[in-house]
Amino acid sequence: MLINEEIKLDYSDVLIRPKRSTMSSRGEVNLERTHKFLWSKKEWSGIPIMSANMDTVGTPSMHTVLSKHNMVTCPARHYLKNSTKEFKGKEDNICWFGGIDEIDNLKEVQSGFIGLDVANGYTIRFVDAVKKLREKCPDATIAAGNVVTADMTQELVLAGADIVKVGIGPGSVCTTRIKTGIGYPQLSAVIECADAAHGLNAHIIADGGCVSSGDIVKAFAGGADFVMIGGMLAGHDECEGKIENGFMEFYGMASESAMDKHDNHNSYRGAEGKTVKIPHRGRVDDTIKDILSGIRSACTYVGANSLRTLSKCTTFVRVNNTHNTIYEH
Ligand code: 5GP
Repeated sequence: MLINEEIKLDYSDVLIRPKRSTMSSRGEVNLERTHKFLWSKKEWSGIPIMSANMDTVGTPSMHTVLSKHNMVTCPARHYLKNSTKEFKGKEDNICWFGGIDEIDNLKEVQSGFIGLDVANGYTIRFVDAVKKLREKCPDATIAAGNVVTADMTQELVLAGADIVKVGIGPGSVCTTRIKTGIGYPQLSAVIECADAAHGLNAHIIADGGCVSSGDIVKAFAGGADFVMIGGMLAGHDECEGKIENGFMEFYGMASESAMDKHDNHNSYRGAEGKTVKIPHRGRVDDTIKDILSGIRSACTYVGANSLRTLSKCTTFVRVNNTHNTIYEH
């Protein structure tokens, strides 16, 4: 047994220090990024925020709105089998995720990114699957995860991943940390995995744990190339699910609800998710505008004229959680 005594941080453990700036307006901030991918050699430009590949939020209607903002949709897994055509927005702005046994379905995808997505990206079987997907799809931009450490980020990149998905346990409807005790504070995971990936000219997705636009800012500031959000997009008109008494259901992909829906009690990603009710929040477009304005504002506070330079302009300040909890309310 070992104990790592280094301090590891979650988003709520830091704030970003304001800095002098020559910028006069949020409108000057460019939120688009251009990423050139290591293995596929393809280039992608857009606002690098992704909807999580979860039943309720990874929907065709979500894609229509996210496309308009040049953001990315990760469709819920069940669409991969035979409903890919339902997604009518920008083709390049989709990332299709599947499991280890869905490599053949992923091979059929002609546009956007593809990815292998498992709860635990640390197994040899998973690394072999990434290698196999790369062999079968040499020109595809491939994402793979989830992991939370530099060593495994590098291993997945060397196995053929262009983008590594980072996050174990931070999700709003995830119960992995409670059920298993496994996890890693998300901001530190992002910083360490981004550093490892960037050293190899690869990219990362910070997946899960953002509850506000400020958290998305902190993920980008920590080095994330993409940020994936689930709960922040839940409860909107574009989500799947009924509105009852002003609330909509939002469930984890490893929850009982997901297993019931997909008749998959062998477990989708292990029984480590829960179901919550979210107050219905109307059009997702309004939420997205709010998120984007928060990120623009953050950039002006630190003097970054683009999302690309935000990380360079960032000094995180550690805060204690009590203060931050009061701040958030
Ligand atoms: P959020 O943005 O809601 O905090 O996190 C979304 C992320 O939570 C997803 O992209 C996915 O990685 C993770 N997630 C979704 N469903 C489950 C689940 O049932 N269990 C676990 N452990 N993680 C989940």
